[in-house]
Amino acid sequence: MSKEPQEIVLQGIGVSPGIVISEAFLLTSVDDRYVEREISEDEIPREISRLEEALAQTRGQLHDIQSKVKAAIGQDNAGIFDAHLLVVEDRALLDEVIRGLKSRRLNVEVILHDVAERYAEALSKIEDDYLRERAADVRDVTRRILRNLSGRAHSEISSLSKPCVIIANDLAPSETATMDKERVIGFATDLGSPTSHTAIMARALGIPAIVGLHDVSVRVSAGDAVLIDGNKGVLIIHPSADRLERYGQLVESRRHIQSELARLKDEDAETQDGYRVLLSANIERPDDVDAVLENGARGVGLFRSEFIYLTREDLPSEEEQYHVYRDVAQRLDPDPVIIRTIDLGGDKFLSHVRTAKEMNPFMGWRAIRFCLAQPDIFKTQLRAILRASQSTNIRIMYPMVSSVDEVVSANRLLEEAKSDLRQAGHAFNEDLEVGVMIEIPSAALTANLLAPHVAFFSIGTNDLVQYTLAVDRVNERVAYLYEPTHPAILKLIKNTIDIGHQHGIWTGICGEMAGNPMMVPLLMGLGADEFSVSPSLVPVVKDVIRNLHYAQAETLAAKAMQSVSPKEVLDLCRELTQEIAPEVIELMN
Ligand code: PEP
Ligand code: MG
Repeated sequence: MSKEPQEIVLQGIGVSPGIVISEAFLLTSVDDRYVEREISEDEIPREISRLEEALAQTRGQLHDIQSKVKAAIGQDNAGIFDAHLLVVEDRALLDEVIRGLKSRRLNVEVILHDVAERYAEALSKIEDDYLRERAADVRDVTRRILRNLSGRAHSEISSLSKPCVIIANDLAPSETATMDKERVIGFATDLGSPTSHTAIMARALGIPAIVGLHDVSVRVSAGDAVLIDGNKGVLIIHPSADRLERYGQLVESRRHIQSELARLKDEDAETQDGYRVLLSANIERPDDVDAVLENGARGVGLFRSEFIYLTREDLPSEEEQYHVYRDVAQRLDPDPVIIRTIDLGGDKFLSHVRTAKEMNPFMGWRAIRFCLAQPDIFKTQLRAILRASQSTNIRIMYPMVSSVDEVVSANRLLEEAKSDLRQAGHAFNEDLEVGVMIEIPSAALTANLLAPHVAFFSIGTNDLVQYTLAVDRVNERVAYLYEPTHPAILKLIKNTIDIGHQHGIWTGICGEMAGNPMMVPLLMGLGADEFSVSPSLVPVVKDVIRNLHYAQAETLAAKAMQSVSPKEVLDLCRELTQEIAPEVIELMN
């Protein structure tokens, strides 16, 4: 008699709510899963010829990619592959692998990996930027050779033929952005944290997801039945019949609450006593406008425009971008659409534009810093946004501003873009509003200096928390320290809002904190004028606001400002939400 497989329960970090049960699809990364195997002396020649074949195949692939990149974006960017080719052609490396095969008698994958890793380690310690970068090239190309040695193609999301749950070591934001939600109905990863852009994309797509599971990618086998509870961060391999029944009931009761909340679609985000805020949505892709409309958000408070760049192999032209921005704005007109200029770097990179590997990418060449150094790329986007602003309600917002100088420089380029358009005879909104994201402590602390240059502030709590508390937002090991209700964060938010109001400009919140329904009364009490949240969270946020009295929000905020610990503030937030909107707490649990 065949035995039922044993249930295995894994705990991670739930980053996108919902429950799904499906078959697992393992997305293997290229360098994992080769086994170590001892070989006999007779096998050495065969291992050498396997390596030679893999090297030849790798060389062919690199030449191929190089010519495609050259055709698409020019010789400079194709240069990276010269460095890769040098690694493949390095005779010393090959000789060392052969020596290793003879002395260690292990399969060539293991020897190659170890030799290449030693090279990379040595390079990464050299005090020379150029040579340090070569370490990444060695690792990159080694992964490719290992993949060719295994003879296995890298399993691709695009090859999915039926709905599945993706299990992976990690997922890049660009991979998540290209997921087809008809086929990928949930995902779980070993790495990751709630405010990584991969997690943000999962919420935007409405796909239940869990990250930070440590070893899910080796515990699940392809085809296993898995259950993902994105609220609790629990993943169950081979769920029992009993478990499935309990989850079935839970899904039913949540569905009921959600359909009640859907009735609020056309209502305003207004408290019981008539205090109204603007509740808009964050989007990453033009298609997300459907979800904005379905969920009853008022426009877009943050369009992460870099995702247009991330989901393709070349840079989008001015014309292409113009059509995207104009179509989004026209569909939402007269509600506002705030386009954030590209925020590349951090955890979002273009595979086809060469940038040096950085030790601390979130503190490196990112967002406005990248744009000011690449004025051609930046001005192309500015011209596209300006043209789309003609007879629509588009606004523009600069990310990761740390000082007034950056705003002045960006505005200067904006003026140049305007004059280019005037000369070319293109119309645009001459009064287009420009705002900045407040997501670096220096910006929050000098909001008074920034205010005279802008029409609004939008607080990006995802980065503000990371930079203020020195907690990497994508590192699951320190995720427990990532606390938006920390007293330092509340002080910075309050300072920004107060200064904004003193200068007569509005202040919104577009980080994930704004979409946490428990924290909404707190942010309202601190004076936030606008909330921009993932489209799927609009109904719960609206429900909380509509059940709130403004005095309750003010009292909560005053108590929170006196609190000494993040947990104390969180408890106050949970208590109030439980009192005014218990259905929301039920949905979140
Ligand atoms: C933020 O930092 O809070 C934000 C909204 O921007 P992103 O998450 O894209 O960095
Ligand atoms: Mg940010």
